[in-house]
Amino acid sequence: MPSDERAIIHVDMDAFYASVEQLDHPELRGRPVIVGGLGPRGVVSTCSYEARRFGVHSAMPTAQARRLCPDAVYLWPRMARYEELSARVFEVFHEVTPLVEGVSLDEAFLDVTASQRLLGPVEAIGRRIKREIRKRTRLVASVGMGPNKLLAKLASELSKPDGFHRIAAEYAAAELAPLPVGRLWTVGKVTEQALHRLGIRTIGELAACDTARLAGALGRHAVFMQALARGEDDRDVQPEQAEQSIGAEHTYDTDLEDLALAESWLLRHCERIAARARGRGLAGRTVTVKLREPPFVTHTRQAPLRESSASASDIYDVARGLLNVWWQTRTNPRLRLLGVSLSGFAERRQPGLFDGSPARRASDQVQDRINARFGSGSLVRAGVLRTRGQD
Ligand SMILES: [Mg+2]
Repeated sequence: MPSDERAIIHVDMDAFYASVEQLDHPELRGRPVIVGGLGPRGVVSTCSYEARRFGVHSAMPTAQARRLCPDAVYLWPRMARYEELSARVFEVFHEVTPLVEGVSLDEAFLDVTASQRLLGPVEAIGRRIKREIRKRTRLVASVGMGPNKLLAKLASELSKPDGFHRIAAEYAAAELAPLPVGRLWTVGKVTEQALHRLGIRTIGELAACDTARLAGALGRHAVFMQALARGEDDRDVQPEQAEQSIGAEHTYDTDLEDLALAESWLLRHCERIAARARGRGLAGRTVTVKLREPPFVTHTRQAPLRESSASASDIYDVARGLLNVWWQTRTNPRLRLLGVSLSGFAERRQPGLFDGSPARRASDQVQDRINARFGSGSLVRAGVLRTRGQD
């Protein structure tokens, strides 16, 4: 292994929410379990492997899941419980490296390049992570390893469930080549279709395709996508300590074309980042909204808060204004991705001491307490209910 090669690990819990439900409710083991939004516009968050056999997958409308698998057990997410187990999983990560980038409650990238001197080769570290997670949570994690984030994530995905796989740099091109292009990071359904129209079905064909021809269909992303197709990816693992902003975003399988629905999602994202900021004793000054039109034209709009805040309402007021202005300037507004982030953290504060109006501060704090007690999502503003549990 070249000495300058990075060692990146991607850990992803298998069917996390559903597995937690099966862990806590033994009578559900071996049965199809579907966790998600159970309302009319609800979407599946996670389903157990038993449910996947019926063709159910995450991000599918719950109504469709009910048709495919009417006998499954349908449950609302219990976020507080998932967060509790997630904290134990992240403890394991921080025992092997300080360079941990959490992607979600059950997924993270770890840079263990330097840890190898102390803990042995990357596979030994990967085994240790799997073993410790199993021991402390009785849940199964898939572990992927590689010289960069792209390959580490692909390695865990390809070996799931109960995965353990390393893609070495020298074999990356060979491992990637036969995979369908849709497996490549950043390639969504629309890009996949565009590539299919060019006769490109595999990652290998994408890597080998004439760049000028590809640029004709994909524009300036062509060069970037071909680098990914060769297994090249120089993104760093961004540890939480270095976090300059707290954000939440979601990519939608079905584009958002309804402003009211987009606003519900925006509010939900604001609730999440406000809770995270408050949990860390942070108050931010700047709100950024990220808007992606299909397939990948991304706009960001930024505006300051009147004063530093970690209040969901304050953040939402600004974010909603930004979304509305953007929406009104489009002839045919559609969103593939919607995100919001809070940045400009001036200082660490004691949790509980936030700026923003006193009434809002009280309301947010009550909500945090209730959510901590009964599970996040127990008390959410009415607008959020429409999007509840959709990830
Ligand atoms: Mg997972």
